[in-house]
Amino acid sequence: MEEENKLVDVHTHLEQYTSKELAAVLKNARDTGVGCIITSGMDPETSARAVEIAKTHEQVFASVGIHPWMAADIQASNPGLDPYERLRALARHKEVIALGEIGLDFIDNAFSGVTYHDNKKLQLSQQAAFGKLVELACETGLPMIIHARGAYPAVITILKENKAKMAGGVIHNFEGDEKQTRQLLDTGFYLSFGGAVTYPDAHTLHETLRKIPLTGIVTETDSPYMPIYQQSTAKNEPSNINRIVEVIAGLKGVERERLIETVHSNIKALFTFPDEERAL
Ligand SMILES: [Zn+2]
Repeated sequence: MEEENKLVDVHTHLEQYTSKELAAVLKNARDTGVGCIITSGMDPETSARAVEIAKTHEQVFASVGIHPWMAADIQASNPGLDPYERLRALARHKEVIALGEIGLDFIDNAFSGVTYHDNKKLQLSQQAAFGKLVELACETGLPMIIHARGAYPAVITILKENKAKMAGGVIHNFEGDEKQTRQLLDTGFYLSFGGAVTYPDAHTLHETLRKIPLTGIVTETDSPYMPIYQQSTAKNEPSNINRIVEVIAGLKGVERERLIETVHSNIKALFTFPDEERAL
């Protein structure tokens, strides 16, 4: 991998693009210095597609998982096949460097109309699935990419119970408070920031970010979701990491180059890349 392509996008869903779009967004990423992109599955099917994309594109690495929104009926939607066994098998591919997207989400979903905040049964089924996936991460030694919305205390409890420090990982789109920041950094997790930081009125998030050491920060777009402020691309895409890095460097009061170097060494410390040729 070329030295100058040091920008990192730790969380995307590349399988959501058409193949034509994918070719264009990966070219844009390469042309703008994004040398490492991790694409995450949300269930066994999208995880298998993430592995395929990583096998065929050299700057892409895969992460396999079950998203909390899918967790409740993952067994029912995979009749005859154990979804956890399918993930375990996928995790053996050398392009798979993480387990995710996994986690808990107790905030109601405006798209599907499902309410989680007052639904104990759904919360418990998410927690059971997440517990199993954290165990799988510890067993395989793969770091986790975690989705935590409205559920930080429960996420932290499950990580601690499972000695998740052994595997470590990333909290994607981090928006926790000061205490949660400390607890997660202590548990071996990096805090990932994306498009939300580009919004000028995201004052709370900006305050949070100012207090986190550079050694605990990584960057993501969550493409094609999570549009950045005044987005100029048709959909969000990994090249927008450039804008996110610019905003974070400004908030932290550091040179862009220093931020890029630090995030790059953070991901090298966290993930094991498949082979020297493709390693960063
Ligand atoms: Zn995501």
